[in-house]
Amino acid sequence: MLVIPNQSPIPLTQFNSDSHSKQGNSDRAEGHLTAKRWIEEAKTAEALYLHVPFCFHKCHYCDFYSIVGNESQYESFVDQFIKELTIVGSKLDEVTTIFMGGGTPTLFEEPLFAKMLNAVHTHIPRAETCEWTIEVNPETMTEEKANILVATGVNRVSIGAQSFDTTLLKSLERWHEPESVARAVEFVTSAGIADFNLDLIHSIPGQTREQLLFDIEQATLLSPTHMSCYALTYEPNTPLRTRLERGDISRLSHDDEAAMFRLVREELVYRGYAQYEISNFAKPGHACKHNIAYWKNKNWWAIGPSASGHMNGRRWKNTPRISEYLKFDSLPSVTDVEVLNSNESAGESFMLGLRLVEGMEKVWVNELLEQSEGNWRTVVIEESIQKGYLEWFRDCLRFTEEGQCFADTVITALLMQDDENTDTTQQD
Ligand code: SF4
Repeated sequence: MLVIPNQSPIPLTQFNSDSHSKQGNSDRAEGHLTAKRWIEEAKTAEALYLHVPFCFHKCHYCDFYSIVGNESQYESFVDQFIKELTIVGSKLDEVTTIFMGGGTPTLFEEPLFAKMLNAVHTHIPRAETCEWTIEVNPETMTEEKANILVATGVNRVSIGAQSFDTTLLKSLERWHEPESVARAVEFVTSAGIADFNLDLIHSIPGQTREQLLFDIEQATLLSPTHMSCYALTYEPNTPLRTRLERGDISRLSHDDEAAMFRLVREELVYRGYAQYEISNFAKPGHACKHNIAYWKNKNWWAIGPSASGHMNGRRWKNTPRISEYLKFDSLPSVTDVEVLNSNESAGESFMLGLRLVEGMEKVWVNELLEQSEGNWRTVVIEESIQKGYLEWFRDCLRFTEEGQCFADTVITALLMQDDENTDTTQQD
């Protein structure tokens, strides 16, 4: 589900970029601002995110940049995508991770799919151990596409299962049959890719504990090396949010969502998956390196419409307009350029780093507190420790098991000074 990254590769909904400093209006006044100004920095990118913006249906919870029904644009999109790949690829040093998400990258017919992936294979310099992941919609996977993945160096897939219960899939307006997940797994593993993630969503309206247990059982029977299990979120401007506001559906209470989260954690740990991030679990040696690069605030470049990049404290997003993307000459225009000051940057590092179960090393925490304005973050941390939400463990600051249920509240309080959000007694 992450990945977080297309509109934002960061799987957090509470990140409020509005309060961050924006790069001056002078940039925009020049017309099309592109990443050309900082393209030479691309050689320090460790990770690369690629966004394919087409889907065959819009799921009701989705706020990612995805377009339905524009088949006539597929070919020209791939041509532009390859143009961007070629330019950026010539500036990159070897990247250690690649993640292609969407949208539905597996939507294209095999010849176009092969053309797109061959271009990545040809133009993107990769470290020998590069983790190269692609998101797979189970309904669109074929044996031939699985073979194309292997031939072009893809070594990890992330399959959007979400649930194995047809009623719950329907309530999410997720258009695939539960059986197609096992079929997609069979295609990719038979082709030679043993490293795969399954996404599940929990805390769906009406979902019972038994249904969640069934989903976890069905998922783990397929032996994924990695599981991402996020609570359903109700993003603004989605059909799901509208249904919630109309009263057509009811959101689970915080206590019920926390109970679902605890069930996921207990069951997956019991089945041999180590929790390494609040919502992510992996067999030994299979934590997702690409997502860790996000959570450790490393440098990554972004390619494709609406893809978000981060280089040396600067964040930006490629144009989220396909019509504009299909016309660019050298690089696509960018939007939402932000350059964080040291105080904001410290808040962002807490927001990301604390999601990792191992927590943040003391020396890093102290550095961030020193670059923060005033001592309010120290106060938030001390209060959170007193409440049992945070703890020091082996010289690292981390969430306690109980504190993970209140992670959003604590992280929001650490992100930005705000009289209203420094009260960490509020529930998420
Ligand atoms: S398949 Fe993924 S990107 Fe496409 S609409 Fe559904 S959730 Fe959004």
